[in-house]
Amino acid sequence: MGQPRTAPRIAIVGAGLGGIAAALLLRQEGFDATLYEQAPGFSRLGAGIHVGPNVMKILRRIGLEPAMEAMGSHPDYWHSRNGSDGAVIAEIPLGEYARRTYGAAYLTVHRGDFHQLMVDAVPAGSLCYDKRLTRIEDLGHDVVLGFADGTTAEADIVIGADGVNSVIREHMLGTEAPRYTGWVAHRAVFPASALARSGHRFDPCVKWWSEDRHMMVYYVTEAQDEYYYVTGVPQAEWDMSKAWVQSSQEEMREAFAGYHPMVQALIDACSDITKWPLLERDPLPLWSRGRLVMLGDACHPMKPHMAQGAAMAIEDAAMLARCLKAVGAGDHETAFALYRANRIERASRVQKVSHDNTWLRDNEDPSWVFGYDVFSAPLVEPSRAA
Ligand code: FAD
Repeated sequence: MGQPRTAPRIAIVGAGLGGIAAALLLRQEGFDATLYEQAPGFSRLGAGIHVGPNVMKILRRIGLEPAMEAMGSHPDYWHSRNGSDGAVIAEIPLGEYARRTYGAAYLTVHRGDFHQLMVDAVPAGSLCYDKRLTRIEDLGHDVVLGFADGTTAEADIVIGADGVNSVIREHMLGTEAPRYTGWVAHRAVFPASALARSGHRFDPCVKWWSEDRHMMVYYVTEAQDEYYYVTGVPQAEWDMSKAWVQSSQEEMREAFAGYHPMVQALIDACSDITKWPLLERDPLPLWSRGRLVMLGDACHPMKPHMAQGAAMAIEDAAMLARCLKAVGAGDHETAFALYRANRIERASRVQKVSHDNTWLRDNEDPSWVFGYDVFSAPLVEPSRAA
């Protein structure tokens, strides 16, 4: 028998926004956390992301709030408009109102820039690329991770932050593909200058709605020189062997026929359009087993229609770090139960509203989402959680 270790080794599988947030927050609490990521590296893929005040408060804790503020667009409002005539149907104040009311800024950014900012904050040697997890063995006293390149790693605690097709979820709950929702998202990022000829004045952050589809549009840079759209469009089938496919302006024109000239101008502005399936799972019966625990899309993938999927992954990471700190990593099962008790209700509610695609279509009060502070929310005992 060797000497008992004082610092538990925490392995995080997946360096998406949830996994990296977990690594940064756990290291801040004094834990030894290492990320294992299947990709050989990351590139600036064409997508934007909303970063609400609930997430900015977590970035403040990590020390990245000023860099994010300098990077992102600061919309004064979220507008909802009627797809055909452009009439404003909701106007949700953000900007200074968000800072004052929810305690931090509301930003829209390029997803690749946000991710790179997080990656750069991870200390050298704590993020291992080209490590695709293929095998897990929970030995009771520790866990062995086996990777596709034939190497292994040992850990006391393993966090599954490996997304919608999580290997950790599969190990805990069996093989089950996520459900294709019957909806796709088209995505395009392009220079705002491509819109100049249209003569329209574009909103910094707007969602165009009609009965069964929508287009969300916003700037992704502080200078507001790059614009982004992401849609939700019904499509009966999806070939699940494909993560995404190329789309086209012709397909977009057909999908948004009858929409306002501003939407047509957006479609005319960019020919490089990708199309992604929207996937879901029902709420999982368990989020942890033994030394394994999950966060983010691994345990609650959702439609992106509240723009809160990554936000929930980052909130999970912060709550998990808080619970491991409060309970101590030596009693990880109690810490995991406390973590789930303090995340399940909120994550499931966001999953449901995202599914229904009703968020901010009318002038509703968004404070239950944006006003939340994961560090000061009173902790619920596991016995009192759903
Ligand atoms: P992921 O981002 O999926 O990261 C998982 C990581 O694990 C990846 O890097 C992957 O390579 C790695 N991995 C997977 N398997 C393995 C393995 N076996 N071994 C090692 N590594 C592995 N959310 C928002 O908050 N705001 C938005 O505006 C927003 N817009 C969206 C728009 C669209 C069209 C879509 C589809 C989603 C959107 N989301 C948004 C949701 C958001 O993208 C996800 O909820 C979020 O990325 C989940 O983060 P994660 O860290 O849990 O998982």
